[in-house]
Amino acid sequence: MTGCARVVVPNGSAKPPRPRAAVEGIASRSVAAAERPIEQADRRQYHETMKVLKERRRFLRTALRCAGVSAISAALPVWPRTAPAQTERAPIGAHALRGNLFQMSGAGGNIVLLRDPAGGVMVDSGAAETASAVGGLVSSRLDGVPLGHLFNTHWHLEHTGGNEAIGRTAAAIVAHENTRLWMSTEYHVDWENRTYAPRTAAALPTKTFYSHEKQPLVLEVGAERIEYGHLREAHTDGDIYIFFREHNVLAAGGVVAAGAYPILDYATGGWIGGLMDATEKLLAITDASTLIVPAAGPAQPRSHLTTQHEMVATVRGRIEDLMRKGKSADEMIAAGVTREFDALFGANSERFVRNVYGGLWWQGRLNGSL
Ligand SMILES: [Zn+2]
Repeated sequence: MTGCARVVVPNGSAKPPRPRAAVEGIASRSVAAAERPIEQADRRQYHETMKVLKERRRFLRTALRCAGVSAISAALPVWPRTAPAQTERAPIGAHALRGNLFQMSGAGGNIVLLRDPAGGVMVDSGAAETASAVGGLVSSRLDGVPLGHLFNTHWHLEHTGGNEAIGRTAAAIVAHENTRLWMSTEYHVDWENRTYAPRTAAALPTKTFYSHEKQPLVLEVGAERIEYGHLREAHTDGDIYIFFREHNVLAAGGVVAAGAYPILDYATGGWIGGLMDATEKLLAITDASTLIVPAAGPAQPRSHLTTQHEMVATVRGRIEDLMRKGKSADEMIAAGVTREFDALFGANSERFVRNVYGGLWWQGRLNGSL
């Protein structure tokens, strides 16, 4: 196949640029620097990093094509970002989760809203096309209380599409620095065959944090203690959780899926090993009474995390074993590597397997788990 002979498969002596390290290079800048516009020296480093990331994506596309994935991509040129169950548009509405904490659904991704007399706090802003309706509902629920912080659990448009409209009314948009980086540049997501343009300045997070910072970070609003932290390289490389301690409700973003397999967006740093680590971290910080708000769909009991962990560990073990035997993603699907979990996690098992495979091409080889 044209171009395949030039591909150097990652191994110990010929490693391609690794995006995480590159991004962490930027992450070594001070927090204060992250909160002001990128300056000249930072800008050079930023563009260098983006060059590395683009090169990694070019390499990955070629490697996957040589591995036989191109036929799959060609047959399915545009995949939905989320599972069918997650993208169905129900009417936009809000219901109380616990006390003055609400879940809004029908906006692409789930939104969580806290109304405290000291200020409102929102997790994710939904899709751009629902921003107006969401904004109206938020105003109505806050009933005169100003919106303080808007958190972004990760960069995906179902979760940040309303940033331009809703973020204007917030004192700060909070996210991991990797989320701001993805939102600041053009990049191609090969498994969707879609190129994303840089977001407008109004959409960008204004307060970011870095992986090396002491976590959880804490925001206190009235009587509510809100803890948040990074979930490294799981659904994307910028996932964060937001834990409303007083209500014992945790917003998990794309790291937890309900009625569907989690999406592993390997083009922006997600992979199954990171998803397993993230699930374990969420299990460690929650208790039996914690309510988990997933990317979309109804809130889940903590037992859902246990089930997700069992699924991830089982499927990861099977796929890594088959990769060591040189099997393709198609062969893994044919082997039924997700079989006993399909009834619970839904119909997007093929997409899940293909993205596990795509992520392992990079992470599994580079970290030596394959
Ligand atoms: Zn997502």
